[in-house]
Amino acid sequence: MKILLATTNKKKIEEFNQMFKTIDIKFISLKDLNIDIESPEDHQTFKENALQKAKFYHEMTNMPVISDDSGIEVFELDNFPGVNSKRWMGDEDYEQKVNKLLEMLVGKDNSCQYKAAIAYVDKEQSIAFEGTVEGKLVKPDMSNSNAFGYDIGFYYEDKKDVFANLSLEFKNTISHRHRALEKFLNWYKQK
Ligand code: IMP
Repeated sequence: MKILLATTNKKKIEEFNQMFKTIDIKFISLKDLNIDIESPEDHQTFKENALQKAKFYHEMTNMPVISDDSGIEVFELDNFPGVNSKRWMGDEDYEQKVNKLLEMLVGKDNSCQYKAAIAYVDKEQSIAFEGTVEGKLVKPDMSNSNAFGYDIGFYYEDKKDVFANLSLEFKNTISHRHRALEKFLNWYKQK
């Protein structure tokens, strides 16, 4: 079974391959098909955005498609920046983004969560699953220069450290994306 994975992010492709190695799926990437047209992504929820992307590439290729959307939600800021996590401060780096959120949070509780949605669309069905992981937004820890996005300021209480300092292996067992993928995988195996 061939599925188009609607991402160009290498780390995500590796994570998907890792999780799906027990079932008979071959992932094709947008790059493999020489597709460089970006899907619109203009909804207010992660699930709707993930479904929008999956439908867009399904209509273009006729293949079954998996896509994802993710971001960080700060509870006391009404879940801001949410679906705008990447875009809300333009080209500013993530140190600036975290510091700005902390400024907005002064005097308030710093609890937050990462959320991810995984969507699947083929000829017969379209469905999406969500996963979350909770943390606290803290002053950025810049000691890992390879850190991904908001991980520099995402403190995970069980490990008493920010995500940026945890191993990828560990992070991949508890991450929002992993949790959403697990739900998808359970559904897919019974399909
Ligand atoms: P996308 O889903 O790759 O478009 O990412 C959306 C936004 O959320 C980007 O700003 C990412 O940096 C951020 N984000 C999503 N998941 C994570 C994560 O696991 N760690 C750090 N940042 C993340």
